[in-house]
Amino acid sequence: MEIRVNNLEFAYSSEKILKDINFTVVKGQCVSILGPNGAGKSTLIKCMDGLLKCKKGEIEIDGNKLSEMSREDIAKKIAYVPQVTASIFPLKVFDMVLLGRRLHMNLKSKKENHLEVLKALKKLSIEHLAMKNFNQLSGGQKQKVVIARALAQETEILLLDEAISNLDIRHQLEVMELVKNLSAEFGITVIMILHDLNIASRFSDKIIILNDGEISANGDAKEVLTKENISSIYGIESYITKIEDKPHIVPLKIRKI
Ligand code: ADP
Ligand code: MG
Repeated sequence: MEIRVNNLEFAYSSEKILKDINFTVVKGQCVSILGPNGAGKSTLIKCMDGLLKCKKGEIEIDGNKLSEMSREDIAKKIAYVPQVTASIFPLKVFDMVLLGRRLHMNLKSKKENHLEVLKALKKLSIEHLAMKNFNQLSGGQKQKVVIARALAQETEILLLDEAISNLDIRHQLEVMELVKNLSAEFGITVIMILHDLNIASRFSDKIIILNDGEISANGDAKEVLTKENISSIYGIESYITKIEDKPHIVPLKIRKI
C-alpha cells in the first residue's frame, strides 16, 4: 500500500488553496500534517479522500488514480474522520458506529458486524456509551465515536482531521497510543492533522508542514521541527529541548516583524 500525491493543485474558486503538493506515504506510516490555521490542511485531507476533486495533479493509491475510483472503492481503502462532526441524526452511538460497517453488511453476518462495532467501541473505551444518543454526548465523546466508526470501517488508510483537538490530555494520549498501535501492529497507514507540535513530534514517523497551500517542510521530527521552521511558519520564537530523543517545543513569544 502506497499513497502518492503528485503535483496536486486545488482551488475552491479562483484562488489556489493547494499548490504543487508532492509527497508519498508508505504502508504502516504514521504521518502528521501540521501548519497554521487556513494553511489548507483540511482541504488536502478532503482531496485525499476524493471528496474534493483536484484541479491539477493526481493522487494514487497503489498506482490507482483516486479520480477514477468510485466512492465505494475509496471507502474500502480509506476511512476519514472530519474536523467537526455536527450530526443532526438522532442516532444511538451503536448505530452510528455500525454505519462504518456499511460495506461489510452483505459480506458478513449481522452478528459479526455487531461484534466488530463492539470491538471498535472497546478500542476507544466507550462501550458504555453504546445505547446513548449521539447528539447528547460531549464534544470529546462524539469525537471518539466518530473515530470508532472509522475503525469499524476496517480500512488500510485512516485520515484524521484534528481528531484529538476536543479531548483532554488523558484522552488525547489514549487516542494517540491507539493510533500508533494501529500503524505499528496492524500496518494501518495513518495520516493525521494535528495542532500540537509535541504530540506530532512524539507520535509520527514523518511530519509534513503546510503553509499557505505549500509544503514547507517534510521529514522526520528532528528535520522538520526546528527553531527556524517554527519561526518562519508560525511567526514565533521558540525554545527546543528533547524528550525521549524527539524535539520538544516550548513556544516563547510572537516574533516581531
Ligand atoms: P486548515 O484546515 O489548514 O485550517 P482549510 O483547508 O480548512 O485550512 O482552508 C484553507 C483555505 O481554504 C482557507 O482560506 C479557507 O477559508 C478556504 N476554504 C476552506 N473551505 C472552503 C470552502 N468550502 N469554500 C471556499 N473556501 C474554503
Ligand atoms: Mg482544518
